[in-house]
Amino acid sequence: ERVALKVFRDIVPKRADGTIIEVAANIGSLEEIEAAQEAGAMGVGLFRTELLFMRHMHLPSEDMQTEIYSTLAKAFAPYPVIVRTLDVGGDKPVAGVDFPDEENPFLGWRGIRMCLDRPDIFKPQLRALLRAAVHGPLKVMLPMVSDLTEVVRTRALIEECEAELKAEGKDYRRFETGVMIETPAAVLIASMLAKEVAFFSIGTNDLTQYVMAADRLNPTVASLNDVTNPAVMAAIEMTAKAGVEAGIMVGMCGEAAGRPDLIPEFIRMGLTELSMSPASIQRAKKCIAELGQP
Ligand code: PEP
Ligand code: MG
Repeated sequence: ERVALKVFRDIVPKRADGTIIEVAANIGSLEEIEAAQEAGAMGVGLFRTELLFMRHMHLPSEDMQTEIYSTLAKAFAPYPVIVRTLDVGGDKPVAGVDFPDEENPFLGWRGIRMCLDRPDIFKPQLRALLRAAVHGPLKVMLPMVSDLTEVVRTRALIEECEAELKAEGKDYRRFETGVMIETPAAVLIASMLAKEVAFFSIGTNDLTQYVMAADRLNPTVASLNDVTNPAVMAAIEMTAKAGVEAGIMVGMCGEAAGRPDLIPEFIRMGLTELSMSPASIQRAKKCIAELGQP
């Protein structure tokens, strides 16, 4: 199968109407760039920054982050790279962050919630991203959004960072900001969010767990943790509709994005970007290419 799929590596898959479907990679470190490019990734749809923070005994400095995000942006240009801001919680500890003991860490202080409470961690990341955006089409997305004010407050922080960089005489560029859609609340306010952001990326791993109220790590409820459940598919369709109506890009970066049995349905809904582990890319490209044929 590997050999047969290889011919699809360099194709640019298109929808029947000619719209390009971006098949991008989910990665979590610079070491994975090569595998993503060899697989034919059209950019990065999800760069998880957790590893960067969990790898070391201390928080990564702004300069170190700037270098990493710049390397990433340069490696994939002219394709875009979407970096997700830090998405950790009590279940994924980080040196330098004191997480409270929570009974339900998946419903607790995590993702954008933690970052907004800790500008000493969030701002260096945003500043590094602004500085790296000079080197290629870098975009930024926010995890675990469940309220419009989270976007508004993040934008204010970005503006603060820009003013600081300007005063310091440092080079930077404003990046496009998007949100991950991975809570039912985000789905229900998708039309409102779409007015405030440049793109959506549906995180089906968490969206499934939260829509179904079934812990994604608990094998006892694994049968409920199914993206094909009609409730989850309805949530995805609602999100796509809101995004398409507002004219913003709608993508997906959960595991489901790489499933050939679901890709036709996602494209029908209006998704134009699918981000997945590098190993799934060629199969996904083949699937889309075959759809596009009349
Ligand atoms: C998701 O929730 O679908 C997602 C892509 O993010 P993560 O798996 O890192 O939570
Ligand atoms: Mg998630």
